[in-house]
Amino acid sequence: MLVLEKASEEERGGNTFFSGGGFRFPYRGIEDIRTVIPDLSDDEIAGIDVGAYTEADMRSDLVRVTEGLAEPALVDQLVGTAFPTVQWMRDLGLRWVLMYGRQAYKVEGKLRFWGGMITEAVGGGSGLSEQLFQAATKHGVEVRYSSKAAGLLSDEHTGRVTGVHVKSPDGFEDIEAAAVVLAAGGFEANAEMRTRYLGSGWELAKVRGTRHNTGDAIQMALQMGAQSFGHWSSAHAVAWDLNAPPTGNRRVGDLYQKHSYPLGVIVNMDGERFVDEGADLRNYTYAKYGREILKQPFGVAFQLFDQQTVSMLRDEYRIREITKGESDTIRGLADALGIDPDGLDRTVEAYNAACQQGTFDPAALDGLSTEGIDPPKSNWALPLNQPPYFGVAVTCGITFTFGGLKIVPTTGQVLDTEERPMPGLYAAGELVGGLFYHNYAGGTGLMAGSVFGRTAGYAAAEAALGARAD
Ligand SMILES: Cc1cc2nc3c(=O)[nH]c(=O)nc-3n(C[C@H](O)[C@H](O)[C@H](O)COP(=O)(O)OP(=O)(O)OC[C@H]3O[C@@H](n4cnc5c(N)ncnc54)[C@H](O)[C@@H]3O)c2cc1C
Repeated sequence: MLVLEKASEEERGGNTFFSGGGFRFPYRGIEDIRTVIPDLSDDEIAGIDVGAYTEADMRSDLVRVTEGLAEPALVDQLVGTAFPTVQWMRDLGLRWVLMYGRQAYKVEGKLRFWGGMITEAVGGGSGLSEQLFQAATKHGVEVRYSSKAAGLLSDEHTGRVTGVHVKSPDGFEDIEAAAVVLAAGGFEANAEMRTRYLGSGWELAKVRGTRHNTGDAIQMALQMGAQSFGHWSSAHAVAWDLNAPPTGNRRVGDLYQKHSYPLGVIVNMDGERFVDEGADLRNYTYAKYGREILKQPFGVAFQLFDQQTVSMLRDEYRIREITKGESDTIRGLADALGIDPDGLDRTVEAYNAACQQGTFDPAALDGLSTEGIDPPKSNWALPLNQPPYFGVAVTCGITFTFGGLKIVPTTGQVLDTEERPMPGLYAAGELVGGLFYHNYAGGTGLMAGSVFGRTAGYAAAEAALGARAD
């Protein structure tokens, strides 16, 4: 098997490299988790509560966050084969750990995990990428770096895909193949396509991951008659440090993200709130809030916290490469961050007055909600009144796009505009459309890439063996 990789060997790994490495899959309880992480000790287990996350939970989360639009057959394939896929990856040598730092809070003496995504690959995204390349090499997969798939070859009579037209530093060549699996990401790193499909202003978004996902494979498949599918005008986009570079930085990785906003309030440069920071657990809101940030003046927002929650912020708030401000007063914080002080004063005063008495529980929807303001903060609404205050400046960071190709969920075969499988052509990962609409549930990207990658890989291999036997 040959893998073509547009990136050089030094920058291999695509978005997988930059990712946090978090995986969402259903599990019945700690015994299932133990099969994924066999070295969990009894002592470790005594101090944690992983709960359960059933197939029904995962299905309902995916349907809920996509406003009921996710293609049911894709959801079925994802939910039904996620856990077996994780176990298959474990058998190939991949290792996971529990996400203590990001997906657990201490509640009543135990670390309680929340939100359906509780494991991450050892070493995060870069560790995952390293482990995947090792496993592939061990199984005889050849990787050709700095080799961009520039077009698909096909039989002019049957239409069967017969290989790939490749561009490398040495020029162009045609490589024949019995089957081709497209797994070249979405069009998040293509400013022109972002503007064309996501809309005006999206050319200004920062790209969280690889600069190489420029929609090449989507375009070459569409040119051959593949069917476009999914939510082309939407994308996964998050709060990302205002001064992060235009595309992913391999040292800082995903730490430019700022995902503890449910513990504080978010305002724009006018000092006005514009989203419900506590609408749901962070895993179910962070991927749609980048879009809301981009709509604000200058595409900028600020997350503000006080001493009640500062110690609970995720590790990404403690890096050197952060755009932050601190002050003993709200006006001072406004000055430090460049927010309109009068506007911020007004907002914080109204917000604090709207906070109610109740029990704060960051590991669950605690119902501690504001009353009488718009937008509300529906959970975790503690008043912002314990100085010193701390704030960070963020903009929109795009992770990946939702529009892409239509596949047969159980084989990964690409469908043409007449709804017929295109012989010899398979697809997996971000460039598959139909799974995500409007929003996303944290940890689903890597899981979907793994499930549909495995599905397409098996089917393509079978087709290739069949073709060889013919
Ligand atoms: C900062 C960040 C954090 C994330 N965190 C998480 C997380 O914790 N959990 C989660 O589930 N998901 C996460 N994601 C999303 C996840 O990384 C992606 O969903 C997943 O990597 C998609 O896999 P893929 O194979 O489709 O694309 P990629 O992993 O991006 O791989 C695509 C590859 O195709 C190559 N390529 C592009 N064009 C061509 C071409 N023409 N020819 C040859 N090669 C080409 C690229 O160089 C790249 O290596 C994160 C993403 C980012 C950017």
